[in-house]
Amino acid sequence: MSEQSLLKVEHVVKHFPIHGGLFSRQVASVKAVSDISFELKKGETLGLVGESGCGKSTLGRCLIRLIEPTSGKIFFNGEDITTVDNNRMRDLRRKMQIIFQDPYASLNPRMTIGAILEEPLVIHNLYPDEKARKERVQELIKLVGLRPEHLSRYPHEFSGGQRQRVGIARALAVNPEIIICDEPVSALDVSIQAQVINLLMELQQKLGLTYIFIAHDLKVVEHVSTKVAVMYLGQIVEMAEADELYKNPQHPYTKALLSAIPIPDPKPRPERIILTGDVPSPIAPPPGCYFNPRCPMASAECKMTKPELVEKSKGHFVSCLKV
Ligand code: ATP
Repeated sequence: MSEQSLLKVEHVVKHFPIHGGLFSRQVASVKAVSDISFELKKGETLGLVGESGCGKSTLGRCLIRLIEPTSGKIFFNGEDITTVDNNRMRDLRRKMQIIFQDPYASLNPRMTIGAILEEPLVIHNLYPDEKARKERVQELIKLVGLRPEHLSRYPHEFSGGQRQRVGIARALAVNPEIIICDEPVSALDVSIQAQVINLLMELQQKLGLTYIFIAHDLKVVEHVSTKVAVMYLGQIVEMAEADELYKNPQHPYTKALLSAIPIPDPKPRPERIILTGDVPSPIAPPPGCYFNPRCPMASAECKMTKPELVEKSKGHFVSCLKV
């Protein structure tokens, strides 16, 4: 493992069992995440992109063990967090926070913003002195661009963008090293999305944070990511440094996603690739390459042989028999 690597993920798999029948036996499983590996250094942002249901959120939750991976290893600062006991995991979780798409659902409507921000400090016993704790709460609210008078208000008194700022402040309260941002701007108006993304980037600079930024389209993660991984049906199909991925996409699925991004610039661009059909069921993925039923380049071989994620050029990984 390289020295500066903050997070190293090795062959992580998550299958959800499906029970049925008279004795509620396991009859099948949802293969939500299949064999995911990557590495992330301190201060980097991995953009994790793919259509709804491809396993992004499940992977994000597995990485901080909000749900248990079925198999695989996750190293955080060199420590395998898949084998640590609950006490150690509680300590580690302080360093690994998550922010959600819908902060309204994750903020207790009966608590003031001040109480919401104070709660994690109390749980982790970070500022036992009440005065210091209140000062920390004031510092947090200002850090996310809100004002101390907001602390006495309730979540319903805020707009979506402001609520997401509160969600960010709550995640920051415990001084995390990595934040899983699970579609943090998908529920916001486009004009507000940019403000929240800029805030996250400023905070990253200021606090040396590492992010995993989950989104369903490549446009949203373009400016935040240092590295991008494109997921399809539980697998990474392409991963590269962000610049490289946007300039030189290789996988037909990445190309289709990129061609769908509207651009105001009238200069010539590659023709729009419209994918036909739906994403297959993760309960019974197709044989061969999982993307073959929708792939414009698929041949007979793609229906039989499963491609590996291979490093085609330095740091640029692609899982396609045709590339
Ligand atoms: P979205 O963008 O819609 O949130 P996603 O890419 O984050 O999608 P996940 O929510 O991770 O995808 O879901 C991946 C697959 O796992 C889906 O088929 C989903 O139905 C399934 N899944 C997720 N959680 C569970 C669960 N607790 N039990 C069974 N199946 C689940």
